[in-house]
Amino acid sequence: MSARAGILVTGTEVLTGRVTDRNGPWLAERLREIGVDIEAIVVVGDRPQDMAAALGWLAAEGVDLIVTSGGLGPTADDLTAEVVGGFQGREMVLDEALRGRIAAILERLARRWKDLDLNALEDGNRKQATIPAGATILEPIGTAPGLVVPPASGEGPTIVVLPGPPSELQPMWHASVATEALRAATRSASPIEQRMLRLFGIPESELAESLRRAEEGGPSLERLEITTCMRRAELEVVTRFDPAATEDYQAFATFLGERHADTLFSDDESSVDEQVAALLLRAPRQTLAVAESCTGGLVAGRITDLAGSSAYFRGGLVVYSNDAKVTQAGVPVELLEEFGAVSREVAMALADGAAARLGADVGLGITGIAGPGGGTEEKPTGTVWLSACRSDGVRLEQTITMPGDRANVRDRTTTFALHLLRRLLLAPS
Ligand code: ATP
Ligand code: MG
Repeated sequence: MSARAGILVTGTEVLTGRVTDRNGPWLAERLREIGVDIEAIVVVGDRPQDMAAALGWLAAEGVDLIVTSGGLGPTADDLTAEVVGGFQGREMVLDEALRGRIAAILERLARRWKDLDLNALEDGNRKQATIPAGATILEPIGTAPGLVVPPASGEGPTIVVLPGPPSELQPMWHASVATEALRAATRSASPIEQRMLRLFGIPESELAESLRRAEEGGPSLERLEITTCMRRAELEVVTRFDPAATEDYQAFATFLGERHADTLFSDDESSVDEQVAALLLRAPRQTLAVAESCTGGLVAGRITDLAGSSAYFRGGLVVYSNDAKVTQAGVPVELLEEFGAVSREVAMALADGAAARLGADVGLGITGIAGPGGGTEEKPTGTVWLSACRSDGVRLEQTITMPGDRANVRDRTTTFALHLLRRLLLAPS
């Protein structure tokens, strides 16, 4: 059996939703990479009794490891180290050497701020250097040290205590993995493989049907843990398995690949964004430009999310008013009058205009109604027209009518746009 862990995210700002938890999911991924299964991610506020209760519940579930995030700051309401020390039956002691190392960091920081309250600084320094006796120290990235705290009794989970800011937590997690205390706690961990297949243009029910078929005489799924989820209009199939079951997985992936040849677009974790980038960069290299109406630059944002995008992305136009469509993207005014701004013809003209105005080989045009309101019976809210064209004259068009609110329509449109580009770039001349 592999080792199991619980993640305890602390912070009233996270509990109340003001800050979106980035640490729980990140830690879950890292734990899986080292072969540790996740029992639960628990989020609590900054109250010590809630933290202790959550630690108690996770320990009662029998986990080997608990990783906490947050509450290591210098102020009196940052109590995680103390709560964890108490929970593990360890006395809190001032570590003089650690105090000195934190003091040196504070000195550098203090030089940047005028009129600092030195007494408060000194109090904070002592607090952050007061740690459970016998804990392994993880050197501060900011000012807070992290800790690996085994139970004094030898019974129960080892607790890894990490600071809340993701920029501090992430490097410190990597440092914690190298400690003997953490290795000892996860000794029983065996690697778990995880693979992902991505499909586009297929409802979840179709995939459920394939899984049923597999169970009735297809490849054996017994040793595979398969989860499916819709994300950004794509269907992700994530499979976890013991390395000994690799052949079962390969048989399953082949089975799905054959059944869904036209919708399965990624079996190597690559995103459609990365695939479009790779297709543009293939020799002979092509460049891309976009003209967007209802997505207001979100497609350009997504394309430029990848490092190195300046090698293939010329730029984007955001054209909302008819006047801007005409003057900036070169859409003929007659098209707007005859077909309306949300139309196949205008999407095509936007694609042509983007490519021409920005000097790109490939153009993408998007026009639609993201709502709320603005729809008609003929063109309801959520109607979007997409068009993509290539310099050799090949072009693709698509219209979609999407359910959901404005954010949903806009976000899904970006995915449809990238898939349209992918198909265009793969199309023969
Ligand atoms: P500090 O010394 O900054 O107080 P800390 O270890 O006490 O560090 P917290 O006070 O819990 O950490 O959080 C500090 C800040 O880090 C939060 O205000 C928030 O911006 C960010 N942060 C904390 N926890 C998370 C989280 N789970 N996901 C994303 N950001 C977080
Ligand atoms: Mg804090």
